[in-house]
Amino acid sequence: MLAPPHAGCYAVALAAVAFSRPRPLYSSLFQHRSLAFSSRASLRFILSAGMEHFSTKGSMDKNEGLVEQLKHYGMIKSDKVAEVMQIVDRGLFVPEGSPAYVDSPMPIGYNATISAPHMHATCLELLEEHLQPGMRALDVGSGTGYLTACFAMMVGPQGRTVGVEHIPELVASSINSIERSAASSLLNEGSLSVHAADGRKGWPELAPYDAIHVGAASPDIPRALLEQLKPGGRMVIPVGNFFQNLKVVDKNDDGSVHVYSEASVRFVPLTSRAAQLQDY
Ligand code: SAH
Repeated sequence: MLAPPHAGCYAVALAAVAFSRPRPLYSSLFQHRSLAFSSRASLRFILSAGMEHFSTKGSMDKNEGLVEQLKHYGMIKSDKVAEVMQIVDRGLFVPEGSPAYVDSPMPIGYNATISAPHMHATCLELLEEHLQPGMRALDVGSGTGYLTACFAMMVGPQGRTVGVEHIPELVASSINSIERSAASSLLNEGSLSVHAADGRKGWPELAPYDAIHVGAASPDIPRALLEQLKPGGRMVIPVGNFFQNLKVVDKNDDGSVHVYSEASVRFVPLTSRAAQLQDY
C-alpha cells in the first residue's frame, strides 16, 4: 500500500526487506495484537511499540533506541551512520507533538514531510564515502535540516555543508533545530549553512560537491545539479512523478556519469514554491 503523495518518502523495497527478517523481540506482541506483517503501517506500529518497550528515559535514549532498531532490522549497516544518527537527535527536528522516534515520514507543514528514519539512513549510507572529513555536501530540499546536520557532522569543521530549501519558514525552523543539535558549532563556525532558494539550481557558490542529496522527487536529474557534482562525486536523488526511483548518480573522474536505481520510493515533488503551496 502506498502512502499518499504528501506523506513523503517511502521505501517499498526496504520495507519488504524488513518484513523478511526474524523479529523475535516482537513475536509476542505480534500474536497479542493479531497484526499481519502485510503493510508498512504494521512495521511502523511495531517499531513505535518497541520504542516504548525498552526506552522511556530521555529523548536521546529514544533516539538511540530508534537507531538500535534500524540496525537490528538491517536498515543501518554502517557504524559511522549509526553514530551520526545517534548524535543528531531526530526529536529536535520534528514538529512538537509528532512521534519523532517512529520509522515513518511525518508532516512538517507547507505540504512537506520529514523523511522516514530508514530513508535518512539509506541516503547517509549511499553517500558515506563522499561525506568524509573535509568534503563538500549539498542537501537540496533540506526541509527540517535533519539530514543537513548529519552531513555536516560527517564532513566536519574542515568540510562544507549547504542546505537549500525554498520555503523560508522551513529554513528558519531548520536553523533553529540545528542550533539546538550536536551540529550547532558547525553552524556557528560557518561550515554549515542553510539557504532559502530554488534547489533545482543547486548552490553554485560552493560547487563542486562530493555529495549531493535531493530530498524531493524530480521528473529528471536537474542539469545544474549534475554540473555541480565533482568528478568522483555521488548524487542521490528520487526521480519520477507518481512512480519514483531513488537514483544513485556517480560522476566518474573523466566526467562521464553512471546511474542506477536503488529502490522504489515516494517523496514529495521537487517543484516551484507556488506549485507546492497551491492547496496549502
Ligand atoms: N530531507 C528533508 C526532506 C523534506 S521534504 C527532511 O527529511 O526533512 C522535501 C523538501 O523539499 C520540502 O521541504 C520542500 O519544501 C522542498 N522542496 C521542494 N521543491 C524544492 C525546490 N525547488 N527547491 C528547494 N526546496 C524544495
